[in-house]
Amino acid sequence: MKLTILGSGTSVPHPQRSSSGFWLEMESSSLLLDCSASAVHRMAQETLDWANLDAIWISHFHLDHVGGLPAFLFGTKYAPETQAREKPLKIFGAKGLRELIEAFDRAGEYNLLKQPFPVEIREVESLEKFEIFDCLEAVALDTPHTPESLAIHLRYKNNKTIVYTADTGFTKTIAALARAVDLLLMECSFVKDKPVETHLELAEAMSLARRAKPKRVVLTHLYPEWNQVDFPAEVKKFSPPCAVIEARDGLKLEV
Ligand SMILES: [Zn+2]
Ligand SMILES: [Zn+2]
Repeated sequence: MKLTILGSGTSVPHPQRSSSGFWLEMESSSLLLDCSASAVHRMAQETLDWANLDAIWISHFHLDHVGGLPAFLFGTKYAPETQAREKPLKIFGAKGLRELIEAFDRAGEYNLLKQPFPVEIREVESLEKFEIFDCLEAVALDTPHTPESLAIHLRYKNNKTIVYTADTGFTKTIAALARAVDLLLMECSFVKDKPVETHLELAEAMSLARRAKPKRVVLTHLYPEWNQVDFPAEVKKFSPPCAVIEARDGLKLEV
């Protein structure tokens, strides 16, 4: 699997870090993890085959994670690149996802689910095991962020595993979900003295990494306060148990 980081930032406008979006490319399928408004154009900027994207995972309904979904569906409805497409687009997320898309529809009579190709919406619950593709199994886990927010564990057919926490406060269950995964893609909104309970700061992220013992950690969802920080030096203070990588827009990782 190849992971391309489209957006390593938050909802705060930033010159280098756009909002959440992570493209996962497999042998014969592709999955977008979260779809911020900026992710829609970042896919094209990274020359990814957005017109043939197979599936989208929406972790929760904050706009820096879902705000691009209606815009993307508005684009695929009319783009020349998608008019001949026949294969379905699957969209996975928490309960309420369909209602959210329908609310956009009502606001502008967009008919976003009426596309040149079939769109399948699948709402999942915490601890539900589901199949995204034949080759990719998933388990969702609720997180202390919003009522609907979910982390996701992905297992590819070659047994490689990824956990994407999306936005979350501190909870040990994340470490259990991410136990020994090949890649833990974890939010680390703040450096320290976090102003809200519903995000992580570095000490908490490193505590989760120590518990989970993943092969590699990527820290993302970085608020602008990270601008002034020497990332490797700050991380080193916590003697992390594995490589800890600072997410940046455009970073590509083989998993
Ligand atoms: Zn966010
Ligand atoms: Zn959020």
